[in-house]
Amino acid sequence: MDRQAKAVVCREWGQPVQVETITVEGPKRGEITLKIAACGVCHSDLSATTGKIQYPPPLVLGHEAAGVVVEVGEGVTDFQEGDHVVSSFISMCGKCRQCVRGRPVLCENARKAMFTLPDGTVRTKDANGEPLNVFGACGVMAEYATMHVDNCVKVEPGVPLQNAALVGCAVMTGVGAVFNTARVEPGSRTAVFGIGGVGLNAIQGCATAGAEMVIAVDNNPKKLAMAKEFGATHTVDLNEVDDAAKAIKKLTGGGVDYAFECVGAGPVVEQAYKALGRGGTAVVVGVADPKDKTSITTLTLPADERTLKGSWLGSSRPQHDFPRILGLYKAGKLKLDELITRTYTIDQAAEAFDDMVAGKNARGVIVFD
Ligand SMILES: [Zn+2]
Ligand SMILES: [Zn+2]
Repeated sequence: MDRQAKAVVCREWGQPVQVETITVEGPKRGEITLKIAACGVCHSDLSATTGKIQYPPPLVLGHEAAGVVVEVGEGVTDFQEGDHVVSSFISMCGKCRQCVRGRPVLCENARKAMFTLPDGTVRTKDANGEPLNVFGACGVMAEYATMHVDNCVKVEPGVPLQNAALVGCAVMTGVGAVFNTARVEPGSRTAVFGIGGVGLNAIQGCATAGAEMVIAVDNNPKKLAMAKEFGATHTVDLNEVDDAAKAIKKLTGGGVDYAFECVGAGPVVEQAYKALGRGGTAVVVGVADPKDKTSITTLTLPADERTLKGSWLGSSRPQHDFPRILGLYKAGKLKLDELITRTYTIDQAAEAFDDMVAGKNARGVIVFD
């Protein structure tokens, strides 16, 4: 059935987001409709409003949500009404070479579901009946969303949905970069560049993995204080040092084993790579502008056996990792409550984006009635 829903929409790159009442059609074959409970506000949503992420507007934002199934399409056997679901902006077909070899974030069919559902169409229309694209095949910054099951992960009830929502992007990206991409061993020396929602999760991932040193690097003293609450053992304030890599080499007596770049900018990648000790690995987590470039000293790759690699949604296997992370939260080993600095109603969406730009929140979350 068709449902009316308030949704946060980008109409034009460079313009503030707006809240509109849209129509969300019911599910077709292989799809489900969710009543969204909560949706995190992520820098990638902002990037879609500026054109840094080039999803064509008009676009329903949101890719970090949790909700409850209210309608199930034909042929869906794994979900039923009432199930709790976290959105995954990675569409995982489960059948291609990458999915089958355990790398669903690299799914060869996921490109079909960037700003539409996997069949290339959408279930979202504006008040004039014009189709609206959806961020990452999700478009979950809305009261309802119809999604393909390949973008849905069932989770246990019993975790507050506003906490579960964050696993869909920030937590999985940060913690996954540490657990899955880098596989940080206990006793490692680590550094995290850029303490946003993702960086804080890389920090707590390193702490949970048993790192000996977790060095937080940022230019915002408030964020560095937050980093300490999430397990940072040391901080480097970029207002106080000229060269973060040098400061880290001094702190560690030679450099870190793992550096996580959570900004998405060439110069920061260079700093993260320079901060490595011999045998170190730098993991680029931040999403850079497509034209952004970085440079490294080539000889250090063989001579120091260094590694420079990337991490997309924490190299996750969402069906396995989302429930695993929620299990760690329930066991008291990962913080989710503390990540949510502030909740907003959907009518306060523009304010939520402004607060993110101003760096006020670990995470701001839109909570629906
Ligand atoms: Zn995100
Ligand atoms: Zn696939």
